[in-house]
Amino acid sequence: MMQNAKQLLKKIYGYDSFRKGQENIIEGILNGSDTLAILPTGGGKSICYQLPAMLLPGTTLVISPLISLMKDQVDSLTRLGVPAAFLNSSLSAAEYREVLRSARNGDYKLLYAAPERLDAPMFQALSESLQIPLIAIDEAHCVSQWGHDFRPSYRQLAGWINRLEQRPLVAAFTATATSDVADDIEQVLGLRSPRRFVTGFARPNLSLSVVTGVDKKRFLTQFLSDRKEQSGIIYTATRKEAEEVCSQLQKAGLEAGKYHGGLSDAERAETQERFRFDDIRIMVATNAFGMGIDKPNVRYVLHWQMPGDLESYYQEAGRAGRDGEESQCVLLFEPADMQVQRFLIEQGSGDEDRKSIQMSKLHMMMNYSRTQRCLQQFIVDYFGESDVEPCGKCSCCQDKSEPVNRTEDAKMALSCVGRMKGRFGVTMAAKVLKGSRDKRLLEFGLDRLTTYGLMRHLPEKEIADWLYWLVAEGYLRLSEGQYPVVSLTANALPVLEGKQEIMQRVRASVRKSGGEAAGGSSPMFEALKAWRKETASREGVPPFMVFFDATLREIAMVRPSSIEELLGVKGIGSAKAQKYWSGIAPILAEFGVAGANAEADAEARAELETAVSQEAMTGSRGAAGLAVPKGGGAASGSAKDDETPSHVVSLELFHDGYAPAEIAKQRGLSAVTVEGHIIRCAEEGLEVAWERIIPAELEALIAEAVQSEESGKLKPVKEALPAEVTYFAIRGVMAKLGLKG
Ligand SMILES: [Zn+2]
Repeated sequence: MMQNAKQLLKKIYGYDSFRKGQENIIEGILNGSDTLAILPTGGGKSICYQLPAMLLPGTTLVISPLISLMKDQVDSLTRLGVPAAFLNSSLSAAEYREVLRSARNGDYKLLYAAPERLDAPMFQALSESLQIPLIAIDEAHCVSQWGHDFRPSYRQLAGWINRLEQRPLVAAFTATATSDVADDIEQVLGLRSPRRFVTGFARPNLSLSVVTGVDKKRFLTQFLSDRKEQSGIIYTATRKEAEEVCSQLQKAGLEAGKYHGGLSDAERAETQERFRFDDIRIMVATNAFGMGIDKPNVRYVLHWQMPGDLESYYQEAGRAGRDGEESQCVLLFEPADMQVQRFLIEQGSGDEDRKSIQMSKLHMMMNYSRTQRCLQQFIVDYFGESDVEPCGKCSCCQDKSEPVNRTEDAKMALSCVGRMKGRFGVTMAAKVLKGSRDKRLLEFGLDRLTTYGLMRHLPEKEIADWLYWLVAEGYLRLSEGQYPVVSLTANALPVLEGKQEIMQRVRASVRKSGGEAAGGSSPMFEALKAWRKETASREGVPPFMVFFDATLREIAMVRPSSIEELLGVKGIGSAKAQKYWSGIAPILAEFGVAGANAEADAEARAELETAVSQEAMTGSRGAAGLAVPKGGGAASGSAKDDETPSHVVSLELFHDGYAPAEIAKQRGLSAVTVEGHIIRCAEEGLEVAWERIIPAELEALIAEAVQSEESGKLKPVKEALPAEVTYFAIRGVMAKLGLKG
């Protein structure tokens, strides 16, 4: 059975080997065990139930609460040649019936359904006529109210499963569960002697950082300007912040979109799609964004504020680098963030038990934010997986900074808080230390304290942060409730008595690395990307559904000269190889890969010629479908690409003596696009070397032909002229002489 699983892995998904944990999980399921698998986001969870589904007789049922994820998975499976469908509220009544009918025929290997659907009578009837060998439950932590995302509809699952005539195998999957939550899942779902797998929490391609003590806006500007071509998510704690950060970025001319609960469904759906299709590169969002979004090429996730628990943090951060490429997760941490999260918990809907669970989770999050251990180890440990080496690239592993001695500052702050006798909050304590003339402060006579104005050299906000840091370190404590007051803990005494020093590390640096730069770019890679973008938009899917970046990069490296060799590339199964070989082969041939087969080559040439004549006919400026991201000329490598418009870059290279075809190769564009660039420059009034475009002896002839063609179309003009006259020359004459097409 495992042998078959491995063959399918290669044939369908194009992978030679399983990722960590996958093999054991699949083997367990195929051997007939109920299973609880805790695999982080990006750990290759879905293969763990998709492969058994293909091998087991009948239709595997996948329960998932996430409508967008169901659609993505079904789309992906269909593209891989595996019959699958979903049942959820996004279907019309007619579509719903159609899926049910096909399901009854046993047409699907996998059927996805939302948990609410299980109660629908139609579905009930279906399950009686369907052979179900396995029920896979995704996002299984939703059954547990100890988890961070409890959903009552999940509670019905166990009852429903047990009512089935023949109880199928049950495999539960989640990306986040501590051992308490895992126990709860097994119990609530009624799993029978389940095998539990906790694995793969370490994400070696992620560099985790905690950044504290910086001007966040300035930090963000710098961070983004180092990552112009990359896609990323910025998470904020509140809608208001999402609005602010997004408009800050838009003002700076960046392609940013926003996503939060205050926007309409239509607005959110649109922004999400634009992000998935790489039309906008930066998504500024609250935690409302991301559940079920499958976008593998997210290169960074930056948290503008600390979230309320480590599960949420790692799940959100884990949306970076799902394609396995180097990516970054940055947490901007200010000790005062704890106050925001406390407030959110207090205002939340949970009962007292739930709130106290949330408070202890918040403390764990605080500990992560100020730990000096390897951040990757810290997280992996939290989820119950041991034996993971320090990652060597998180901000703690990389931290070479000397801690700063802040004993004097600590003494001032602690003694001030001590004198305020536990009657005031952090804000007031900061005002006293600052020496503020605040009305309430004066009313309470706090200006008469000996500590009044002791830290007046610092901004009030920095003093407040310092106090929160002392809270986080356990020298001060905040009371519960809506207006927490601050007081000393026993740990403060040795400091005040001069028996203990306080050291603080200030971390601010984030390594300047990043997928695309680190992974390397090449003209062929850029050309493949341009082809992918065009193909994806023709098919109406996001580019990553055609191929991942890593796959394209490997193609550029391996340079396969036949469809068989293409099948050897990681991530290419037979369905995709057959579908896309004819599209890729011409690009390979263009880069001199011998043997990229003649047939595909001929096909491509025909296509290119059509493109030429189409473009010429419409007179469009550069084929939009082939456009490379702004400044995309990776090969020309000059820094000025970042500011210079793409068409002007082409003109400059043209004037450097390169022919359009050579420029095209260098920049990963088509020659037609480059010619369009040059004509556009001319139309915009830039100096163009006409003699290299228009054969002098033919100029008059071309002009005459253009003027005598009444339709305004180029194709008849071309046909009326000697064969050696190119479209480029015709368009050149039109632009030079200002003739309308
Ligand atoms: Zn580390």
